[in-house]
Amino acid sequence: MTTLTYLQGYPETLLVQVRALIEQQKLGTVLAKRYPQSHTITSDSALWDYTQALKNRYMRSAPPVNKVAYDNKIKVMKHALGLHTAISRVQGGKLKAKAEIRVATVFRNAPEAFLRMIVVHELAHLKEKDHNKAFYQLCCHMEPDYHQLEFDTRLWLQHRALSAGSSA
Ligand SMILES: [Zn+2]
Repeated sequence: MTTLTYLQGYPETLLVQVRALIEQQKLGTVLAKRYPQSHTITSDSALWDYTQALKNRYMRSAPPVNKVAYDNKIKVMKHALGLHTAISRVQGGKLKAKAEIRVATVFRNAPEAFLRMIVVHELAHLKEKDHNKAFYQLCCHMEPDYHQLEFDTRLWLQHRALSAGSSA
């Protein structure tokens, strides 16, 4: 039976359906049909603009972000889809908080909805460190379909991982 590494924690009733799609080799087609729209946010500066636009629209009161970048060192597994770091450093005698958002490079070539889900997730971390109720409320405030998108993003990552495995 296929181990669904990216979908751990989801109910078995859902995973049964996913396994059926994989066995019928239909998962890729289903995802491509549901998410036909790619994006052109391929540079770090475009990612910066994209993130700022979302932040200004929904998270104006959150602490500022200092840097946004794609990062090819992020291993996209389980819960770590992106990375958010908050560093406090002393600058000119003052304590300055620096927030950085890093997005795994794999999302450069992902459907726009999946990139949005990651950015929304990392923006929510500006206010909530943990994956608690308040955190997911922020995510859903920015993207009402957040939970569906996170699930589908994991499906997509799972599909990629399986396709890479079978063609090797
Ligand atoms: Zn997180």
